[in-house]
Amino acid sequence: MSPDSELVIGVLLPDLLGTYSDAGNAVVLAQRARWRGIGARVLHVTTTTAPPADCDLYLLGGGEDEAQAFAVEWLDRHPALRRAMAGPAVTFGVCAGLQILGTTMTDTGGRRRDGLGLLDLTTEPGTRRAVGEIVVRCGIPGVGLLTGFENHRGFTTLAGTTAPLGGVVSGIGNGGAHEGGAVEGAVAGQVVATYLHGPVLARNPALADHLLERVTGRTFTAADAPDVPDLAAMRRSYLDGRPSRRSRRGAALFRR
Ligand code: GLN
Repeated sequence: MSPDSELVIGVLLPDLLGTYSDAGNAVVLAQRARWRGIGARVLHVTTTTAPPADCDLYLLGGGEDEAQAFAVEWLDRHPALRRAMAGPAVTFGVCAGLQILGTTMTDTGGRRRDGLGLLDLTTEPGTRRAVGEIVVRCGIPGVGLLTGFENHRGFTTLAGTTAPLGGVVSGIGNGGAHEGGAVEGAVAGQVVATYLHGPVLARNPALADHLLERVTGRTFTAADAPDVPDLAAMRRSYLDGRPSRRSRRGAALFRR
């Protein structure tokens, strides 16, 4: 985007994909951009809207298998949007959004569908559902630990030049086989995807800033944003209130 232009964030199909308020990621991005003096506008692109192909950033949220299948058919009908999502725009997918951005996905009924092919990954039903809190050590320099909530049956295997978003510290993550241990999410070119809900960018402002850096070409630090309550302390108190073994492990991480 040019230095004086307004950042336009397109939330794709919030009426279908957004089981855990994933559209909230757009609110976080827009506000963090405004805090840096960048004008920002959020467009909700519903199933009945003609989708714009000139957004700076596209967001795809999570959803059930049926909603996901419909979303892929809808995206097939809009080739200009599909091309824009491959770049120059930045595209960020969550859960079903991650699966849609891949090459193929198979649902629990065994039906295989092509995805958008923007990420080299395939998704197959796992042996069990991955549900619960997850902690990921993000591979993007400076982003640090990510926390979120995962709920998916699809297990994803990465291939080619698509890299994981990070390594799983606690939780399941992609679920597919990966050399060197469990990984989470996917990154290739200007496309970033994760299984983390939350909304994930509300819980992980450093990841939101990283997406803004990709769009603007600028560098941001947390200090550019106004003081917010200590997020690490808030997460710690949340995790401390949940007595499961996994939660206690997550809480211990944030005590360091
Ligand atoms: N339908 C997908 C699955 O269960 C995605 C779920 C989600 O987006 N939360 O794997």
